[in-house]
Amino acid sequence: MGKVYLIGAGPGDPELLTVKAARLLEHATVVLHDSLVSPEVLQRIAPGAEIIDVGKRCGQKLLTQDEINSLLIAYAASHETVIRLKGGDPLVFGRAGEEIEALRHAGVEFEVVPGITAALGAAAVAGISLTDRRAASQVVIATFSRGTDASAPAPQLDWGAVASAATLVLYMPGAVYDEVADRLRQAGLPEDLPCVIVSNATSARQQIRWTCLGELSSEQKLPAPALLIVGRVAARRVQEISAAYWRTEAPGRPANSKNVS
Ligand code: SAH
Repeated sequence: MGKVYLIGAGPGDPELLTVKAARLLEHATVVLHDSLVSPEVLQRIAPGAEIIDVGKRCGQKLLTQDEINSLLIAYAASHETVIRLKGGDPLVFGRAGEEIEALRHAGVEFEVVPGITAALGAAAVAGISLTDRRAASQVVIATFSRGTDASAPAPQLDWGAVASAATLVLYMPGAVYDEVADRLRQAGLPEDLPCVIVSNATSARQQIRWTCLGELSSEQKLPAPALLIVGRVAARRVQEISAAYWRTEAPGRPANSKNVS
């Protein structure tokens, strides 16, 4: 039995691969990857390696998760190393939990090689500090995706948790910006709350749109993959963050910090 490496490909730019991921790709003989992995990263795979796209695009699955699990186990039986390459980090919205469970169950050795998750890639290109002692002491990484079933109930998300001093990074926002905006309003967040949409962060196709809660629903949908960064830290100018900090009456703030600006 060979070993399976669950590798994070990062958000797009191949220079954001870890040294370990790059080395493993350069010596790979078989790679099973998601559609999210950028073409630039795929070019780093050893010439002659068998490359299999097991991902999904626009909700159309190429292979089911069970089929992917079985493939990993089957390839591990005939190869010394098998690479399972996922966009971003394998452990963030990557269904790695199911693959790890299947590999453990089959007695296949595995190792996780972390990657830069999209939230961090997007924050980097937008120049947004996800935490900021003036504006956010927590980061909530969440999704609002219903998966392929549009009639399914929206996933449970603790919108109240983002109403306080937090930054929300919303993966897979799909086309439901208006629904996201409504939920944030219901949680008591103000119309001028900064929101940033980042599409294809760190790749040549990257786009960034700066907006606010009040205008989110009328924003043009950017091409997938895209995510939303919501919170005071996403104000375009640091001065705005600073002013917002002094204006907002967030819970737990020292009494003498209010209304100073
Ligand atoms: N494991 C991945 C996330 C997979 S879920 C990670 O750690 O990043 C897929 C979602 O990730 C997309 O719908 C989008 O919200 C986000 N995403 C992935 N790559 C992205 C990129 N380069 N730019 C913006 N969002 C991205």
